[in-house]
Amino acid sequence: MRNPTTTQILFEMSRPGRGTVVYPPCDVPEVQEFPPLPAAFLAGEAPDLPEIAEPDVVRHFVNLSTLNMSVDSHFYPLGSCTMKYNPKRHERLARLTQAAHSHPYQPEDQIQGLLSVLYELQGMLAEIAGLPAVSLHPAAGAQGELAALLTASAWFRHRGEDRRRVLFPASAHGTNPASAALAGFDCVQLRSGAGAFVDLSELRDQVDDRTAVFMITNPSTLGLFEPEIAAVAEILHQAGGLVYIDGANMNAILGKARPGDFGGDMMHFNVHKTFTGPHGAGGPGAGPIAVRDFLADFLPSPIVTHDPDRNRYSLTTPIHSIGQVRTFFGNVGILLRGYFYIRTLGARGLREVSENAVLNANYLLSQIADVLEVPHGKRCMHEFVASARVLKETRGITAMDIAKRLLDSGYHAPTVYFPLVVEEALMMEPTETESMETLDAFASAVREICHEDPEIVNSAPHQTPVSRPDEVSAARKPVLCWSSPDC
Ligand SMILES: *Cc1c(COP(=O)(O)O)cnc(C)c1O
Repeated sequence: MRNPTTTQILFEMSRPGRGTVVYPPCDVPEVQEFPPLPAAFLAGEAPDLPEIAEPDVVRHFVNLSTLNMSVDSHFYPLGSCTMKYNPKRHERLARLTQAAHSHPYQPEDQIQGLLSVLYELQGMLAEIAGLPAVSLHPAAGAQGELAALLTASAWFRHRGEDRRRVLFPASAHGTNPASAALAGFDCVQLRSGAGAFVDLSELRDQVDDRTAVFMITNPSTLGLFEPEIAAVAEILHQAGGLVYIDGANMNAILGKARPGDFGGDMMHFNVHKTFTGPHGAGGPGAGPIAVRDFLADFLPSPIVTHDPDRNRYSLTTPIHSIGQVRTFFGNVGILLRGYFYIRTLGARGLREVSENAVLNANYLLSQIADVLEVPHGKRCMHEFVASARVLKETRGITAMDIAKRLLDSGYHAPTVYFPLVVEEALMMEPTETESMETLDAFASAVREICHEDPEIVNSAPHQTPVSRPDEVSAARKPVLCWSSPDC
């Protein structure tokens, strides 16, 4: 039988008269720390709260906290999301009073230290990007895309050019066309659906004087470095367009290849992915953008600037700025974790991160390639996309079945059914922080599932409180309030 403290909510566990300890009345004079509650708040009946003993409440919440999977509790190979370990040292540093207790409305001269750190981070990200101007402002990768596209749009307008089209390959992350549409562009998807790389002749056909930007993730979500990226950029630049590099996969190329060097004009970082901000389930994040010098004046506001004569850091608004895309000056808590991570590792350490991320992904690929095909290549960058197509045909086991069954083995599932260019896709990204033992154990779990009785796999997971929720309804019609069955 399931533990009632994980399957019921507190109201259902409530029993009349049961409750926590009631301490005897206080016999020392009360000190009124806060003004008393207004009398109206104290009138009327007490709210109908559950009556439960303290140990049951504690168990309820502790057990609930273990139902989800996290990087701190489970191997988490969720492709494209870079779920790497969040070093506790940086958590501690980000909680230092000087950082955590600063207020965004504090005058600049009281937060010079914090501003100097953000200024330094701008410089470090510019160096890693190979692009000189950085805004730390956007709160996530997707918002970075939007901010950069608005920046490009403002630049084109300033030049009197009316360019309305944004192009991307079929393997693009869904946020790319979404950002382009939000920024007011027309979205054009390249036709070549099945190819792993951009088809240059198709690109030439599509690019013209209406083209504003070509958005491309490099390395791609297939875990492959676009071999013709320089030629791609050349085609765009000759037509007067810009190249946007979706930098979500920077974990593969830190210190190895720079988007600015291979033709990118703009890019975003996902600090929460590449530089270890804890994330998952939608937050929190930071999506700084880096752009070429001619776009710098259009960046979102504010930018941290430094006056070396007065040794003073300020928040400034670029002259043609598109304005703010969120409040204040960015998601500072995550930016700080990224800063500490980069400072701890240094340039050589960051290169090693990418080397080990690529090594781990290739090792995992080699350990599962005999049970799941990997259609695009024997080698990969930081991640790869396996396919359950053959397994589905021969044994009736789908990518979703494998993902669900992995939960029973104690692993977070890989990303499934993305990118769309691979049938029955399972996108695996182990990251550099996993040991060989963990990768071996995960590979054996995958292999076992592929050979298991299909009936067991088709109905998995068997060890979670809920087995197969209707995923569409769960996303579109979330039930966020509990109401008593008596109502
Ligand atoms: C994660 C991701 C994004 C979006 O980034 P968020 O920080 O989640 O908004 C964009 N593109 C790719 C390829 C990604 O993996």
